[in-house]
Amino acid sequence: METVTSASLIDAANRIVIKIGSALLVDAGTGTLRREWLADLARDVAMLKAKGKEILIVSSGSIALGRKVLGFPNGTLSLERAQAAAAVGQIRLAQAYQEVLGPHNIEAAQILLTLEDTENRRRYLNSRATIGTLLELGTVPIVNENDTVATDEIRYGDNDRLAAQVASMTGADVLVLLSDVDGLYAADPRFSASAKFLPLVQTITPEIEAMAGEAGTEGASGGMKTKVMAAKVAMHAGCAMAITKGHVSQPIQALLDGATATWFVGTALPGVARKRWITGMKIKGKLVLDAGAIAALSRGKSLLPAGVTDIEGNFDRGEAVEIVGPDGATVAKALAGYDATEARLIMGCQSSEIEGKLGHTGRAAMVHRDDMAM
Ligand code: GLU
Repeated sequence: METVTSASLIDAANRIVIKIGSALLVDAGTGTLRREWLADLARDVAMLKAKGKEILIVSSGSIALGRKVLGFPNGTLSLERAQAAAAVGQIRLAQAYQEVLGPHNIEAAQILLTLEDTENRRRYLNSRATIGTLLELGTVPIVNENDTVATDEIRYGDNDRLAAQVASMTGADVLVLLSDVDGLYAADPRFSASAKFLPLVQTITPEIEAMAGEAGTEGASGGMKTKVMAAKVAMHAGCAMAITKGHVSQPIQALLDGATATWFVGTALPGVARKRWITGMKIKGKLVLDAGAIAALSRGKSLLPAGVTDIEGNFDRGEAVEIVGPDGATVAKALAGYDATEARLIMGCQSSEIEGKLGHTGRAAMVHRDDMAM
């Protein structure tokens, strides 16, 4: 593999997820928001957006902020109290993002997810579609776990893994975990001065897993262990992941300028793993397209119902279908944006006719361009 630098990976990325932990956002002493740091982070986001990148933020901090407001003492909170703190803190957290991004003319959008939203197929597709629309509209989704409704058995509990799921679900190219350590060491750097630093990990071996200690920082749920688990999820989705120190001002700019980081980069190129995943799915049906639609697809457009002339098979939304041209030749494999019944109702229709045919507002695309493997 050619030399991996933070700048090369970030420059090549279209979609970037930045995960921000509670320890960065909330001052450990006062329990209040570190507004200046967040304002600097917003400058990083604006800088990346100016380069044409789509940015998602996965942010913790609701419980840490809320517990201070509610006057809860230090130490572990009961689930009920943690959920109450999250409800009070999340509203402030979201507002803080709106306030720091606003001056850059960037709209913040709040997304609260539970584990089920990424595991249940229907909810997964819905969450993904909404996030996709928000990104297309140029907003920055601010994602957190929906702590107020998630009970222990159904919680992620740590935002490292949530961030990796979000990165995988949205087909992000890069995930940056802003942390209190600058990367992965062969031993915990807070205890051993001679710890060996690992700048690049390409396979997560049992040795790498063993190097990851447990959670250490007050107020944060994730430790190196959850970060390595997150790396597994990200790499599996073809997303490169970095662990770097977040405490500096403008940590993403620092990363671009060569700050220390551990990069987890699998062999799959960004985007390729997803296409490979689509290619490997079982075909449930066929969409026959006219020549105009085939030409539009090869220009990277989504497939609109107007270009579909025939539909074969019985498939659910999200299942794989073959895309064939007027001559019957297969041109792509794709995930259906509609189930077969609805797809038949709207094939050949203009987008403006969809609502009339279905009785509800549907999505414009029969297949989104991100869901196609040509
Ligand atoms: N969702 C939790 C919060 O907002 C944070 C989880 C974590 O620390 O990773 O407080």
